[in-house]
Amino acid sequence: MATPPVLTASLAERSRRAVWHPCTQMKALDDFPPRAIVRGEGPWLIDEQGHRILDAVSSWWVNLFGHGFAPITEAITDQLGKLDHTMLAGLTHEPVVALSERLGALTGLGHAFYASDGASATEIALKMSAHSWRNRGLPGKHRFIGLQGGYHGETAGALSVTDIPLFREAYAPLLRLSATLPSPDPRHALEGVNLEQHTAACVQALAEHLAEHHASTAALILEPLVQGAAGMGMYSPSYLSAARALCDQHQVHLICDEIAVGFGRTGTMFAHQQALGADGQPIRPDFICLSKGLTGGVLPLSAVLTTDEVYAAFWDDRTAHGFLHSHSYTGNALACRAALAVLDTFENDDVLVRNRTAALRLSTLAEPLTRHPRVKAHRHLGMIWAWDIDTTDPTFAARFHRVALDAGLLLRPIGNSLYFMPPYVLSEADMQHLVEGTLRTLEQVLACDAVWPSGPGERLA
Ligand SMILES: *Cc1c(COP(=O)(O)O)cnc(C)c1O
Repeated sequence: MATPPVLTASLAERSRRAVWHPCTQMKALDDFPPRAIVRGEGPWLIDEQGHRILDAVSSWWVNLFGHGFAPITEAITDQLGKLDHTMLAGLTHEPVVALSERLGALTGLGHAFYASDGASATEIALKMSAHSWRNRGLPGKHRFIGLQGGYHGETAGALSVTDIPLFREAYAPLLRLSATLPSPDPRHALEGVNLEQHTAACVQALAEHLAEHHASTAALILEPLVQGAAGMGMYSPSYLSAARALCDQHQVHLICDEIAVGFGRTGTMFAHQQALGADGQPIRPDFICLSKGLTGGVLPLSAVLTTDEVYAAFWDDRTAHGFLHSHSYTGNALACRAALAVLDTFENDDVLVRNRTAALRLSTLAEPLTRHPRVKAHRHLGMIWAWDIDTTDPTFAARFHRVALDAGLLLRPIGNSLYFMPPYVLSEADMQHLVEGTLRTLEQVLACDAVWPSGPGERLA
């Protein structure tokens, strides 16, 4: 009887057998096994064979300062010598207190609730919003609004406010879908409609929906300024300002999902800070969801920040009026120390200013890509660049990803949207490698582009 030679199999082969990979049709791995990464060095990943791969998507949008960033490593190591983890019900510790105080000072939202991943942060914000209305005597306000193309994670509650059909369809019977309103992403504008008119039409749609449904609506959830999983769709801050005003007018919470765009990604510490209210000050959401960059991409941690008003709705002698949600690893001390090291780095190294210089340089280097004859739409904000490629080949993204790996680049287009979302620490040589490798990859992939009649391609992030 033949037994599989497990011990001599490559890491990729053992992974294919034993690990069920995320966001992956496992059968596809038969032909394209996963790359085995053995080391990280700054923005680079190094595989088993010693190939160097530039992590141009920040390992699924989480990494800020590269792999093995010393201040984070040192903070975690120091914390390991003191306290690794303790439950957070009835107990507390310095790292979680300090992190909560600092996030409150940065956002004006002084109450922080923790979980371990982005989808759980979405769940918490949704539950907290509806429960707070119930505690305030408005139990009918328990429905949600999301935006077309919005993405907020893949647990059942988060999927119900996520508008990515490929991720959602199989689970439709399990979900209570939210209302989905038009996205201000100008790529959805009708022919002959400019950005301003498109934004105004989306605001109008929101105004009409709220006028009719405010009594049953708890919250509007959105990704401020950039809809990541929709292919880095970028929209005007004026939509956010208008959404804030409309939510206030109709007693509906605004949940800003900053999981992907927080921590400097869009040029400001948080994306919603680019939207101003009538008083000329940045708008204040009722909830902010944070994860991904929160720990610099090193440890899983998420946080939901909220206001005194929401907090007060739970403050009561009755246990059932409390927010009784919990996760075992809530407020993990190691992860909180990593997050504190991230905040220290923003303060000490003037990260936002440094990023402006880096972004200008990368935009300049990327001009040949922007001017490429097969690029239909180009957009850039902070440390995110995206180009829509003129192709209807549904295999474009998967083929691009594979060819790019051979060119020493980790890039995963979403549908026909090619994007860079790199760590903030690229050198001039890294940037040149990124742009040159991308151009070469694009030529190679387009050269054997199949001609497809129509229809959307697979959009795996
Ligand atoms: C990644 C992401 C999530 C989900 O976070 P996970 O940690 O993957 O569960 C939610 N919202 C946005 C905007 C994201 O980009």
